[in-house]
Amino acid sequence: MTSLTFPFKAPACNGELIDVVPGCIKWLRMPLPMALDHINLYLVRDGEGWRMIDTGFDTAATRELWTRILPRLDAPITGIVCTHHHGDHCGLAGWLTEKLRVPLYMSRAEYFAMRLVHDTSFDSWEERTYFRHAGMSEAQVAELPQALQLFALASPPARAYRRLREGETLVIGSHQWQLRGGEGHSPEHISLYCSELGVLLSGDQLLGRISPNVGVLPFEPEANPLKDWLISLEHIGELPEETLVLPAHELPFYGLRTRARELQQHHFRVLERVLTHCAERPDTAYGLSQRLFPGRSAALENILAVGETMAHLAYLLKQCRVQRILTAQDSYRYQVCGI
Ligand SMILES: [Zn+2]
Ligand SMILES: [Zn+2]
Repeated sequence: MTSLTFPFKAPACNGELIDVVPGCIKWLRMPLPMALDHINLYLVRDGEGWRMIDTGFDTAATRELWTRILPRLDAPITGIVCTHHHGDHCGLAGWLTEKLRVPLYMSRAEYFAMRLVHDTSFDSWEERTYFRHAGMSEAQVAELPQALQLFALASPPARAYRRLREGETLVIGSHQWQLRGGEGHSPEHISLYCSELGVLLSGDQLLGRISPNVGVLPFEPEANPLKDWLISLEHIGELPEETLVLPAHELPFYGLRTRARELQQHHFRVLERVLTHCAERPDTAYGLSQRLFPGRSAALENILAVGETMAHLAYLLKQCRVQRILTAQDSYRYQVCGI
């Protein structure tokens, strides 16, 4: 298997602009208030302007950065494309569309997910049931609404959008960008591929060094997102290996097919580890998450680890390789089939 190559050094998280495709695509970074401490944003030449790809997380620091960067650009922003609804990607979409009066482009499911995240209380019987079923204690569950508030959008989301659809083409300036759908990390993630430039704006669908979170979420507790994710990786892995991948986190890279395969294999290995743990000692999703991802203790880390563990368990459940039993504590205990 060939390895990945990383042709650019990272810019500082201060609005510095790097020409990744000279005259056509600029790259900048903004800070994130979490363990993953940055997001990559891109500006794509759009005739006499620039089309923005993702916006950054809504904080005073990122608003300040945009306020400094926008007047220094040689042309105005013509529109904003958000790859998906996570706060690091679309957190400033409402603020920017209001300020600039330009359209927002998103897939339909991501647009409505964005509006839902803005409204949710994160404290419902459905959410508490999900975490209790996963094996978390009442005290842990009580801490969660506070931790989950990080995902709530701080400012009102944009009230209108233009729809991006898998399989269609988006024209930006003189280039055609194919819209590639992805599921598993978020409901209808859109990546943009331009064959003429040999560039994929991959959002969170394909990252060079980290594995994007694939989790079962409380609002759809019986979902099988890992199945969707593996299929999406299969599809994106059909693009040419020599494509320059411009991801939303970490460094741009070459080695698209290699990376898609690595990510699939990562999940196959986690599935095997889940099976091994379940065979050694049947456990709850929370218990298994602690054994799979030791050393995580913050409430938010626990939530992500539980969701990721549940995604692997759901995949194995659907394949009848594990089964679950509801215990007297109202949590599910998972064991390998046949025990
Ligand atoms: Zn994301
Ligand atoms: Zn992201």
